[in-house]
Amino acid sequence: MLKKIARKKCIHIMLVYTGGCNGCDIEVVNAVFSPFYDAEQYNVFLTFNPREADILVVSGCVTKFVEESLRKIYEKIPEPKAVVAVGSCALMGGVYKNIGGDLGPSDFIAGPVENIIPVDVKVPGCAPRPEDIIAGIVKAIHKVVEG
Ligand code: SF4
Repeated sequence: MLKKIARKKCIHIMLVYTGGCNGCDIEVVNAVFSPFYDAEQYNVFLTFNPREADILVVSGCVTKFVEESLRKIYEKIPEPKAVVAVGSCALMGGVYKNIGGDLGPSDFIAGPVENIIPVDVKVPGCAPRPEDIIAGIVKAIHKVVEG
């Protein structure tokens, strides 16, 4: 009960970049948490400690290089938790899906995110609008707080 009340008053989000152009990360860090949208006024904070996180926000196409790290970060986040996949790269590989040359997609990309860890909320777009990212985070908060 106490944990539930505390969570309602303080939600921590961990942002993990898994490959891509960083456009989605800019929208999260420099827009959603900017003074304009100011997610912190609603007691939603960024953290870089998975043990402190409630919601994992994942951007990027998930390269094979970061696949195992993403899985480990997900496992370290305590239950109940939620995952928000942000951007077309995270949802379906985006512009990186069909990378050609000697390194074909199967040699380079392990994603989309839902191939690696369970995804609760999907936010499409390249890059998604801050309003859509906030709406996705709100859906994830409902899952974390209400179970
Ligand atoms: S979805 Fe678009 S903006 Fe986001 S990381 Fe991929 S290419 Fe960049």
